[in-house]
Amino acid sequence: MARKHHELTHKRRERLADFVVPFRVKPGARVTLSKDFDPAFDGGLRHKREGEALLAEGVELLAEYQARLAAQDTWGVLVVLQALDAAGKDGTIRHVMSGVNPQGVAVHSFKVPSAEELDHDYLWRYARRLPARGGIAIFNRSHYEEVLVVRVHPENLERQKLPKASRQRGVWKRRYREINDWERYLSDNGIRIVKLFLNLSKEEQRRRFLRRIDLPDHNWKFSSADVAERKHWDDYQKAFSEALSHTSTEWAPWYVIPADRKWYARIAAAAVLVNTLMEIDPRFPTVDKQRREELLKVKATLEAQAPAGAAADPFAQDSGRDDSDGRAQRRDSEQPAPVSAKSAVD
Ligand code: AMP
Ligand code: MG
Repeated sequence: MARKHHELTHKRRERLADFVVPFRVKPGARVTLSKDFDPAFDGGLRHKREGEALLAEGVELLAEYQARLAAQDTWGVLVVLQALDAAGKDGTIRHVMSGVNPQGVAVHSFKVPSAEELDHDYLWRYARRLPARGGIAIFNRSHYEEVLVVRVHPENLERQKLPKASRQRGVWKRRYREINDWERYLSDNGIRIVKLFLNLSKEEQRRRFLRRIDLPDHNWKFSSADVAERKHWDDYQKAFSEALSHTSTEWAPWYVIPADRKWYARIAAAAVLVNTLMEIDPRFPTVDKQRREELLKVKATLEAQAPAGAAADPFAQDSGRDDSDGRAQRRDSEQPAPVSAKSAVD
């Protein structure tokens, strides 16, 4: 049984690793978004229905790995989500994280910086929201705005109260380096970083803006500022291309997620996240022999307290099945099944 599970996990892992390859920006590669990545790519999955089963599988795996990540308490995961307006950041978070224990996830949105934030170094506000070990944090926009919107609208840089030398030529190259260094420091210290860029086409953005106007329930989502921002489309494409070229690293690679089909973007984002968690391969901690003996003593005490007519251990039968499919959470795990009290005594 364990062997079969092992093979299944291995196959699944390989399939996922293959699936995410086309999205990954090779470290050091020079990216031109319009040439290198197609927002309408669907990997041959023609229909939403085909995708639904895949997404459900991804969501289930995520929940399982999140539980292990939390139990192991060694790694934290930082998900960086970047995109232009209407690319589907919010919907992606909603769908991809739908099966995950809310206690294990925090979502942080970064808007125009406050006066307090502008009074600090530019990475300060992001550093304050990093995940703890065992946790997943999602940055809905992130430190990358510091080389995107700030680059496209340099007046943002003016507001950052930087010393003169830090505002002059070379500021963007320096920021790429600083971001890479920061991310390397984080990954060296147990924070895995997953960077997703939702890649939307200009025409699909136009359609989605129109839809936000046409549907009354969606009006609140429409901001005239977004249409103003659309005028800077080419500048943004350039800024994204540059950022992807300079900040996709071995320790924190970028993934460009085709975003013209919402359902496909969600599958792809879930796949990248699950793939990263599989690479981390967090394990439920196992207890040592001494601790297990202690547990068995406690167990004997609890069994002795059974009222008349009640089974000493109502789960005695189940525990023998622990290494089968008895618990969904352990279905895909390669680690040995926890030793039940019964088999430990044997
Ligand atoms: P939304 O995510 O649609 O609520 O919009 C948030 C707005 O905050 C966007 O227009 C971003 O461009 C802007 N924003 C986020 N980070 C920064 C930053 N560091 N400097 C300036 N504007 C930012
Ligand atoms: Mg907006």
